[in-house]
Amino acid sequence: MEREVRVRFAPSPTGPLHIGGVRTALYNFLLARKTGGKMILRIEDTDQNRFVPGAEDYIRESLEWCGIELDESPWNGGPYAPYRQSERKPMYMQYAMQLIESGHAYYAFDTAEELDEMRERLKAAKVATPQYNAITRMTMKNSLTLPEDEVKKRLESGDPYVIRLKVPRKEEVRLKDLIRGWVMVHSSAIDDKVLMKSDGMPTYHLANIVDDHLMKITHVIRGEEWLPSAPLHVLLYRYLGWEDTMPEFAHLPLLLKPDGNGKLSKRDGDKLGFPVFPLRWVDPFTSEVSSGYRESGYMPEAFINFLAFLGWNPGTQQEIFSMEELANEFTIERIGKSGTRFDIQKARWFNEQYLRAKPDAELAGYLLKALEEHNISCSPEKAEKIAGLMKERVSFPQEFWREAAYFFVAPTEYSEKVASKKWNSQAVAVFSDFRNELSTLSDFNADTVKDLLVSILERHGMKIGQVMQALRLAVTGAEAGPDLMQIIEVIGREETANRIDAAISALSQYATA
Ligand code: GLU
Repeated sequence: MEREVRVRFAPSPTGPLHIGGVRTALYNFLLARKTGGKMILRIEDTDQNRFVPGAEDYIRESLEWCGIELDESPWNGGPYAPYRQSERKPMYMQYAMQLIESGHAYYAFDTAEELDEMRERLKAAKVATPQYNAITRMTMKNSLTLPEDEVKKRLESGDPYVIRLKVPRKEEVRLKDLIRGWVMVHSSAIDDKVLMKSDGMPTYHLANIVDDHLMKITHVIRGEEWLPSAPLHVLLYRYLGWEDTMPEFAHLPLLLKPDGNGKLSKRDGDKLGFPVFPLRWVDPFTSEVSSGYRESGYMPEAFINFLAFLGWNPGTQQEIFSMEELANEFTIERIGKSGTRFDIQKARWFNEQYLRAKPDAELAGYLLKALEEHNISCSPEKAEKIAGLMKERVSFPQEFWREAAYFFVAPTEYSEKVASKKWNSQAVAVFSDFRNELSTLSDFNADTVKDLLVSILERHGMKIGQVMQALRLAVTGAEAGPDLMQIIEVIGREETANRIDAAISALSQYATA
């Protein structure tokens, strides 16, 4: 019988979620939705030293913002609760004991000093990567080297110990990765990983395997940085007797810096000129602020569409996909093998597409909010009209105010470049007539205003192209923008006349010729 697809996103709350992590969560979610399976979130917090306050809430808020829904999680529960590993602490020891009993794990009593000593000794003997492994374990203090009664005594007297996996010395470990194909690793490259720490907490490796098994996970989709751990995980499944139901693995290609040199990392913060986090993050220890996509004006749908394409493609020309469309199209087979370069221009492009597809009335909301902050009143109809005029010219919602302020506030500065080229006495003569005759129009709209301007230009023996830029300068102060006649219609006749007057006096030094 086909098993129900169950995938999990398993972040550690050691800081803000990186965009690479969001992509991992997204691909898991898409597979779950595509197959009618379940998306699980598990918090992997066994490393208490790396705990960062606020990180878990940040993860939750980020996924909610992105529209990545969870079927089971610490926040909405589920049949395999708890979903936070620290709360599952009592469950892990029995599996470590099972491994000890079957001869696949052992107690190790070495102190930190003894471990250091071993590493130094190996370094001196020119061993490239000194490790606790099949060779060195026999020189250390553990239940394989100490007499049985001493082991017993140490355990009974509460001597600190860890439990290590007994990795075979010579064995080929194979695993089939859904993205990379067969991956082969020789067991001599794997060290005797600690499974249980001396504080009674499992390590990531043990907890991850036990939980994926107990939570009936069918596919492990995670970042490529976990590929080196995968053979060890295969050994754990095998020794625990769970190989039959071992999940399938898919290790996602790395997200690379824009120049292709190296992995895009959390530490890049804002250094590369764009956010690496979905939401703004304030470091609780240093108060350092890192920007987020949300606060930068990215819409979640655009952000998700962009992330989906960083490593996956549908094999067609279509680029704009809703979450539902992504879920329908998504397959692991179409995930690329090689790292994907990060391209913030593409993110911006997606944002523009989504922004333009929104109804003017919705976009007007962004403008109205900014106007309220600036204590400027504006009717919803007017805001809608302006949003419609501006939407092809902005990439982010906050730009509606920034780029369209001249609809509300008369210019106080004029582009010097345009003034010196386009402002002259002929234009001023046309504008004087124009501002005076605006009052004669019985119907004031873009068309009637344009007709008026054209008839005045005819009288002066001029063409519209000769004055348009200068008129735009007078009315908006800017070099470019949407249709000027539409702008004038929105601004109104009185304000237009006032602005022309102001420009004529402010730019008089250019009107000598
Ligand atoms: N807790 C690991 C992380 O923080 C999860 C790795 C995995 O998915 O197995 O990325």
